[in-house]
Amino acid sequence: MSGRHEREKGVNVQVLLRCRPFSEDELRNNAPQVVTCNEFQREVAVSQNIAGKHIDRVFTFDKVFGPTAQQKDLYEQAVVPIVNEVLEGFNCTIFAYGQTGTGKTYTMEGECKRGKAGHNGELPADAGVIPRAVQQIFDTLEGQNAEYSVKVTFLELYNEEITDLLAPEEISKVVLEEKQKKTLPLMEDGKGGVLVRGLEEEIVTSSSEIFTLLERGSAKRRTAETLLNKQSSRSHSLFSITIHIKEATPEGEELIKCGKLNLVDLAGSENISRSGARDGRAREAGEINKSLLTLGRVISALVEHLGHVPYRDSKLTRLLRDSLGGRTKTCIIATVSPAVHCLEETLSTLDYAHRAKHIKNKPEVNQKMMKSTLIKDLYGEIERLKGEVYAAREKNGVYVPKERYYQEESERKAMADQIEKMGVLLENHQKQLEELQDKYVAQVRQCSDLSGKLEKTEKNLNETSKLLANSEEELKKCRYVLKEKEFIISQQKQAENALAHQACALRSDLEKAVKDNALLFLKIGREDKLNADNRVVVNNYQVELAQQIGSICNLVSSSMSQQNEHLESVEKLCRSFTDTHQKAILDMKKKLTTARTSHVSQMEAVQNIVRLHKGSSNAALDEISTLAASNAHSIEEFLKSEAGKAASIFNDLQGTLATQQGEMALFARELRQRFHASIEQTKNISDYTNGILDKLSEESVKVQNHAVQADGVQMKSIASFQKVYEEQSKSESEKLIADMTNLVFNHVRRQKELVDARLVDIRESAMANKTFLDGHVSSMVGITTDAKRKWQEFVMQAENDAKDSSDYSAAKHCRMEALLQQCVFTAESAFKHSKVAQESVNEMAHKHVSDMASLIRSASDTNEQHDAEIDCARISAEQDSLKSTDDTLKYID
Ligand code: ADP
Ligand code: MG
Repeated sequence: MSGRHEREKGVNVQVLLRCRPFSEDELRNNAPQVVTCNEFQREVAVSQNIAGKHIDRVFTFDKVFGPTAQQKDLYEQAVVPIVNEVLEGFNCTIFAYGQTGTGKTYTMEGECKRGKAGHNGELPADAGVIPRAVQQIFDTLEGQNAEYSVKVTFLELYNEEITDLLAPEEISKVVLEEKQKKTLPLMEDGKGGVLVRGLEEEIVTSSSEIFTLLERGSAKRRTAETLLNKQSSRSHSLFSITIHIKEATPEGEELIKCGKLNLVDLAGSENISRSGARDGRAREAGEINKSLLTLGRVISALVEHLGHVPYRDSKLTRLLRDSLGGRTKTCIIATVSPAVHCLEETLSTLDYAHRAKHIKNKPEVNQKMMKSTLIKDLYGEIERLKGEVYAAREKNGVYVPKERYYQEESERKAMADQIEKMGVLLENHQKQLEELQDKYVAQVRQCSDLSGKLEKTEKNLNETSKLLANSEEELKKCRYVLKEKEFIISQQKQAENALAHQACALRSDLEKAVKDNALLFLKIGREDKLNADNRVVVNNYQVELAQQIGSICNLVSSSMSQQNEHLESVEKLCRSFTDTHQKAILDMKKKLTTARTSHVSQMEAVQNIVRLHKGSSNAALDEISTLAASNAHSIEEFLKSEAGKAASIFNDLQGTLATQQGEMALFARELRQRFHASIEQTKNISDYTNGILDKLSEESVKVQNHAVQADGVQMKSIASFQKVYEEQSKSESEKLIADMTNLVFNHVRRQKELVDARLVDIRESAMANKTFLDGHVSSMVGITTDAKRKWQEFVMQAENDAKDSSDYSAAKHCRMEALLQQCVFTAESAFKHSKVAQESVNEMAHKHVSDMASLIRSASDTNEQHDAEIDCARISAEQDSLKSTDDTLKYID
């Protein structure tokens, strides 16, 4: 179901059923089983025969857990989704409802006191919903790495008094000493909710802490239990877990998501029925279980959709108002015992739980708070607490004696009670107001219904009046039509009368017509008489006409004879005329035949002339053709002879050219050989020169080395000489200073000797050097002379070769010149021949031309003659024809 849909329609309260297993006592007593659970069908069947009466009922719930179901199964199947919704920011409540001893406390808290959390943080198998929920919350939040805070409260509601089960020990001790439990007031928080003033909110930081807290709370309950005689079965406990989770919006603002889980362990359900059953102690019981009773009434009101829901009637319903028909998601776990001795309570529990299934809540996510506003609120709280602490420490606040405090407290309590009563009154008033409002709404609805009806009737009235008017109009129309019809009838009557009159008139007319007919018959008789007269007259006329026609016939025959005479004379005239005409025609015929004969003879003459001409021209043309044939023949012959000559010349030429070609090839081959030889020679030469140069370079290296050595030796000897000389000169000079005078000469001599000896040494070494160098030089000279000789040899050979080749080429040149000369000769002879041929051809052509010219001239002459003759013949023929035509014309004239 989508969230929106949920909000609009509401979701039903989820109701689970749990049936506990048989206890050891029950097993020992062999108690029969009356409850069977079908977990798959989610059904619980109760069946038992009591006094012959068979009770067999089946209930369906949202989930059913049988005796074998473990704490873990119930938690995972039913509570995990609820806790997840709390983590998403919903408020959720889980109630445990059932008879005492059916496992409410076992389900909610479990038997966790025996063994705390397992070694690796695992929960004991008996742990109930509370420790498991806390662990899930911590696991999820740690898994999300979220920043969060978890706070828990734990309170007990007994006899309409709220006790904090987590209050610090010292205070509760004080309270116990005073034999008075510290009760906490319930107050409106001004936002439509309630809060318990002074309730200890314990911050939990890890899931293991929950066991200490539960033990603390249970211990308090236990103590109370011993004091207050089975209080636990009559008291409700409420364990709340509030979670704040920090969230960051995409805009970077920090929001606080808030979710709350209420876990309610209700008082034993037997308290209701018992209070109902025993009237005598109803008041006390009612007082004690006011909360449970009110819870039942609230559920009834919600299921039956009554206008007023009595939340305010008990503290439990005030505390959990939002969980019943409000914005909280609610789940009820009903617990039952399978044993027969609990049957009555079991059935009532099943009924109760089944009814609660129909409650609808409209869950809403808690509005996320801005972190800043939360901090502001917290600062306010801190300030207030600081003030209180300060007042307590400095005794600066209000400080009152104990009695007065208790008095004031009791007054306050009374006032609170009064306020509560007034609240109830207000509630009643509100209820009345609501009822009145409902009535008012009903009245308004009725009124609107009535006005609607009135409108309808008015409409109907209008319609009927309209109809009436229409029908009146129609009536008027009908009357008018009636009048019209009456008028028509009277008119028709008048017309009938008129018709009768007319019939009479017609009869008289008819009688008149009969008379007229008789008259008509008389007239017809008269006409017949007239016709007979007319016939007589016509007969007379016929006779006269026959006489006149006879006279006319006589006249016609006389005129015919006259005409025949006339025609005979005309015939005669015509015959004479035709005779003359025939004569003339014969004459003309004769003349024409003579003219024709003359014309024919002339034409023959012309034809003869033409034939003559034809013959002469044919002869001339024959002559021309024979001449041309002879010419062609002579030319052919001439050309034949010339062709033979030319062929011989060309053969000569070809022969010479072939020889020339052969010579050339030979020459080229020889030249190639010669050049090859010279190339080899030059190669030899270069090799040799290379060797010489190599030798030379070696020698020069040697010389260089020697020179370096000699130089080093000389330098050394010079250096030693210098040294010796210096020493000697020093000592000598010293000696000289001693005996200057005596030893000057001696010294000079000795020095001279020394110098001489030294110089001889040097000279010797120089001589040795010189001889060495001379040897080298001489060897080099030898080499060079050798090279020179060889080179000269080479040069000579090359010269000879060149001479040889030049001679050879000269010879070849001569031969080629001779060949060329021959060619020139042949060419000249060919030229001469061609010249002769040209001349003869020219001659022949001249001859031919002159022949042709004479022939043509004669032909043209004959043609001219021919023309003249034809002209003559033509003129005579013209004259003849003119004459004959003139004659005929004359004759015709
Ligand atoms: P209630 O709180 O309704 O009065 P308790 O929770 O005190 O009932 O349970 C009574 C006894 O029954 C306890 O000893 C508990 O261990 C036992 N008991 C209840 N339900 C179960 C169960 N589902 N499995 C095992 N034992 C159970
Ligand atoms: Mg209990």
